[in-house]
Amino acid sequence: MIQAAVLEAPGKLSIERFPETPLQRDGAILRPTHCGVCGTDPHMYSGHLAVPMPLVMGHEFSGILEAVGPDFPARDVYGRELRPGDEVAVGTTLSCGTCYYCRFVPQRENLCQNVNIYGITLGSEEQPHVRGAYSELMYLFPQTWLFKLPPEVSLKMAALSDPIACGTRALERAFGPGLPWAGEGMGLGRSVVVQGLGPIGIMTGAAARAMGASPVIGIDRIPMRMEMAKRFGFDEITSPSRCVLSAEADASSNSVTSPTTERWPSTRSRS
Ligand SMILES: [Zn+2]
Ligand SMILES: [Zn+2]
Repeated sequence: MIQAAVLEAPGKLSIERFPETPLQRDGAILRPTHCGVCGTDPHMYSGHLAVPMPLVMGHEFSGILEAVGPDFPARDVYGRELRPGDEVAVGTTLSCGTCYYCRFVPQRENLCQNVNIYGITLGSEEQPHVRGAYSELMYLFPQTWLFKLPPEVSLKMAALSDPIACGTRALERAFGPGLPWAGEGMGLGRSVVVQGLGPIGIMTGAAARAMGASPVIGIDRIPMRMEMAKRFGFDEITSPSRCVLSAEADASSNSVTSPTTERWPSTRSRS
């Protein structure tokens, strides 16, 4: 039997037991070792999001491959061979492979019109029941993106790969359009302001730092978060009451660049 935390109804989370998930030829079984509590999870728990119930939640996770069916992809996203016992980070989004976007814009599988997400859209009533990571074992579908962990990345760190991807993707989008040396876009030496220093905000700041942004400025009003952000490489942390932002918000992310903190080149209009 597999134990899992099941959201049965809004506000009702309980430990349930499910029959062992049978291994399909094109499926795999994962033993989740770490799973984050996403900001989305409390919304689901409170009934603010329409999700199927009962539901095994948990979508920011890493784990150990327990079993791999003969027709499950033999390699991970980067072409590394997959075997039972491998430590992996897991992409949580499952695209259908047949809709317009899957066929013609396959690099943007987030646009899939029939998208599923482990721990969010796959209720536990249907077989295979356990498709969320608040569980001892869970089922993986063949279109799952798996990332075999290099030795220097721990399973605990790997469970952050989903939320940190929100930050790195926001920064990728902020890179263009524009020429950083001409005062446009985001790039080496440009300042970045992150509003809101929750886990994703902090990781976005750390990623901006790794990409060469400077200074990286954080805005929040909760002392614990402000303290944590300092440890992740923010140059300056301030509260909303202390800042007057005159920059346009970057429509693609929760990052903004602030002319008040520009170093070089000097502030210029970006109309
Ligand atoms: Zn999430
Ligand atoms: Zn699709």
